[in-house]
Amino acid sequence: MYEPVIGLEVHVELNTKSKMFCRCSADYFGKKPNTQTCPVCLGLPGSLPYINKQAIEDCMKIGLALNCEISKKSLFERKNYFYPDLAKGYQISQLRWPLCIKGWIEVDPPSHKASEGQETSRIRINRVHQEEDTGKLTHSGSETLIDFNRSSVPLVEIVTEPDFKDSSQIKDYAKKLQQIFRYLGVSDADMEKGQMRLEANISVRKVGQKQLPAYRVELKNINSFRFMVAAVEYEIKRQIEALEKGEKLVQETKGWNEDKKQTFTQRVKEEANDYRYFPEPDLPEMQFEESKIKDLESNLPELPWKKLEQFIEKYGINESSARILTEDKDLAGFFEQLVELGKKEGVLAKDIANYVVNQKIDLLNDSPQQIIDDIKAKKTNLISDDSQLEKVAKEVISENPQMVETYKKGKVTIIQALIGVVMKKTAGKADATKVKIILESLLNL
Ligand code: ADP
Ligand code: MG
Ligand code: ZN
Repeated sequence: MYEPVIGLEVHVELNTKSKMFCRCSADYFGKKPNTQTCPVCLGLPGSLPYINKQAIEDCMKIGLALNCEISKKSLFERKNYFYPDLAKGYQISQLRWPLCIKGWIEVDPPSHKASEGQETSRIRINRVHQEEDTGKLTHSGSETLIDFNRSSVPLVEIVTEPDFKDSSQIKDYAKKLQQIFRYLGVSDADMEKGQMRLEANISVRKVGQKQLPAYRVELKNINSFRFMVAAVEYEIKRQIEALEKGEKLVQETKGWNEDKKQTFTQRVKEEANDYRYFPEPDLPEMQFEESKIKDLESNLPELPWKKLEQFIEKYGINESSARILTEDKDLAGFFEQLVELGKKEGVLAKDIANYVVNQKIDLLNDSPQQIIDDIKAKKTNLISDDSQLEKVAKEVISENPQMVETYKKGKVTIIQALIGVVMKKTAGKADATKVKIILESLLNL
């Protein structure tokens, strides 16, 4: 019996105004190639980088949301490699003194544990560090084009321990991270635009074996949750089958071929890469005071799990609806806006939740007022049908002879109590004005 061992590396581009080490705009998407560059992000000799403070704060916010320890001392290092996507010949990154370490997050349990009733699993976060993105290469025919607009856009890398046991956990983790980035407001984390990128490291070992396997297969350049899940499942199966046949697995980097629905080898590592990391001499060491970190932590925007809890407790909506409503930060905000308006118009949060979840409203097309009006109309419309109301009214009259007698004796205000009974029977959905008219006409016969 074999079990998979999987670790995840996630890269996320921050939505800061400027790049990581210069003042060029970091908003490069769809811009004319090489129009947002300067000597620093082009790596020209003599240029000097400086640190983007906002990016450092955003990176720490991510670390805090993932229960990390924030380092009091942190510094950048050069990761040296030769490839045209970085003009400097190295990437400024972090290896030995990352901004955040030792975090964790709760995700769905592996499928086989979920069926035994386990509710969550904890994934340990090894590190959250700050680095810079590379330029973008476009290969066309025998030519390769380089666009440096993306070069040095702030990039945060989040590395887990190899704690994942199957693809469902990976999907849940990736979705939760994306949700966290959006709630923190540090990135849109749009996978199609390359703002969020996943890499999975996969190996398999005998159940009960304690050490990590000596190899790992790295899945790279997979730009959707769905493809990642497919690639991971394929790889687990392939590796187990290979080991069962007595084959030896090797360290390699693979991609996903969606047409063939299989992984393919990109690179087989003969030995570990040597990036000759060393501290970046052009940037100062960073030091953070405890009070500054505490400050950042206490000012963290509300996170998805807090919002979920709040929706359930404060508004009394059920967990599955609350999950849908808090999945997206904008939807959650819109819902809160509706609840505020609803309060003034006597519409319950629960009814608004039902409406939003069932109708999947197009946020752009309906104004909050229209939606509240619609909910009210739907509610009254539900039972404004005369024959239906008459049926309930007749039931109420025959079941409450004493009230009827009181009414006939001249105490007509008792009709309010009868209306109340009708409302109770219809769970508050009857049109009260109509009920009154119907009751009166029946009582006055
Ligand atoms: P690199 O940059 O060389 O990929 P990192 O340390 O950044 O190295 O990332 C290594 C990732 O691989 C981590 O997520 C780690 O948990 C995972 N990992 C390490 N060993 C194994 C293994 N034997 N099987 C699966 N994943 C592993
Ligand atoms: Mg890696
Ligand atoms: Zn620049």
